[in-house]
Amino acid sequence: MNLLEDWLATGFSRKRPELEIDEQAMSTTPAAEPVSAVPEDRGAELALIASQIAPCVKCTLAANRTVTVPGEGSLNAPVMFVGEGPGAEEDRTGRPFVGAAGQYLETWLKPIGLERSQCFIANCVKCRPPQNREPHPDEIGACLPYLERQIAVVRPKLICCLGRIAAQTLLGTSSSLGSLRGKAHNRHGIPVVVTYHPSAVLRDKAGLRKPVWEDLQLLQRLLGQ
Ligand code: URA
Ligand code: SF4
Repeated sequence: MNLLEDWLATGFSRKRPELEIDEQAMSTTPAAEPVSAVPEDRGAELALIASQIAPCVKCTLAANRTVTVPGEGSLNAPVMFVGEGPGAEEDRTGRPFVGAAGQYLETWLKPIGLERSQCFIANCVKCRPPQNREPHPDEIGACLPYLERQIAVVRPKLICCLGRIAAQTLLGTSSSLGSLRGKAHNRHGIPVVVTYHPSAVLRDKAGLRKPVWEDLQLLQRLLGQ
């Protein structure tokens, strides 16, 4: 299962999509991140956030988790990937995107010149929802401050939302994923690209690979690579 091989085999267009900045998103999103100043030692701050997540019981997802999954990656990550919430493998290991979806996500990176270790990978909620159901709005609302702080510390050049939940959460909209993908948004000065969740692409192989490849090319272009 490899997006690049799929692309080569199916002859997806090599042409990069034109950069479309979402003017509305830009004009409605405040310019400054409403998060307090980030301390000098960013590594220590990330560790502090993870240590605060570990015992967290701010929402009902705490009841069923094995361990929290705060997120992980480079402090100098050009890209922060944001998913929905931990699945079974993540709940067991405490690491994001290490199950089937994560392994598939890793195959998306090489074709755009990235390695997993260079990126930061996180989720909207840090505890696994029972039976992998979608996190509820109140759970996302309770957990979002952790992700906000992680974004403020890592300060990635770009955020890539994986799936509808991450896209709607970080862009503060109820618009469909189909209408959000394919263009660059602006969140407090950080460009945001939206694409389908790797699990959805694994389920629906035929239809979603081409748009995902286009979104990844847009991401690569925005990074200036
Ligand atoms: N799906 C997600 O959204 N996040 C993970 O960490 C794993 C699977
Ligand atoms: Fe706390 Fe987030 Fe876990 Fe809810 S999902 S208990 S807010 S860490």
